[in-house]
Amino acid sequence: MRSLPYFCRGQVIHGFGRGSKELGIPTANFPESVVDNLPADISTGIYYGWARVGKGDIHKMVMSIGWNPYYKNTKKSMETHVIHTFKEDFYGQILSVAMVGYIRPERGFTSLDELIAAIHSDIEEAKTKLDLPEHLKLKEDNFFKSSVSTTANQILNGHQL
Ligand code: ADP
Ligand code: MG
Repeated sequence: MRSLPYFCRGQVIHGFGRGSKELGIPTANFPESVVDNLPADISTGIYYGWARVGKGDIHKMVMSIGWNPYYKNTKKSMETHVIHTFKEDFYGQILSVAMVGYIRPERGFTSLDELIAAIHSDIEEAKTKLDLPEHLKLKEDNFFKSSVSTTANQILNGHQL
């Protein structure tokens, strides 16, 4: 995928309540404006990368890009699970992400246990891959600097800053 790494940010909105949090894997949803700006070569599936909530620390993340059942699968959704335990929810805050690499396409699951196991394996893969020097250095990208990380609803590419 030519567009990787891909940098974007937006306000965290309420998702469609699939109960991700109940599975222990909450996913912060981006607004339509961010999803609509995705380059055409970014296909649906699971990605790994870096994430920052507001002016907080930069954490590893996994992101699912898929078809949004709320809109009868006519619209895509982008959902980020930040690999960190937060004290509180962060709806309304600006989430900045760098999508660094692709893990796998979307797939169906025959049971909830199978789905949860797959997500845990995605998280392990993300953790390992992000420790590679070429990926670690993206944490230092200008995109994540405090001065630019809280501007509401902007879609920016870190390399253009
Ligand atoms: P929704 O359907 O509203 O997206 P979720 O069950 O997926 O609900 O929970 C997502 C929300 O949980 C996020 O918007 C955020 O405020 C909160 N949250 C807490 N910890 C995390 C985390 N580690 N990663 C992502 N979101 C988190
Ligand atoms: Mg969610």
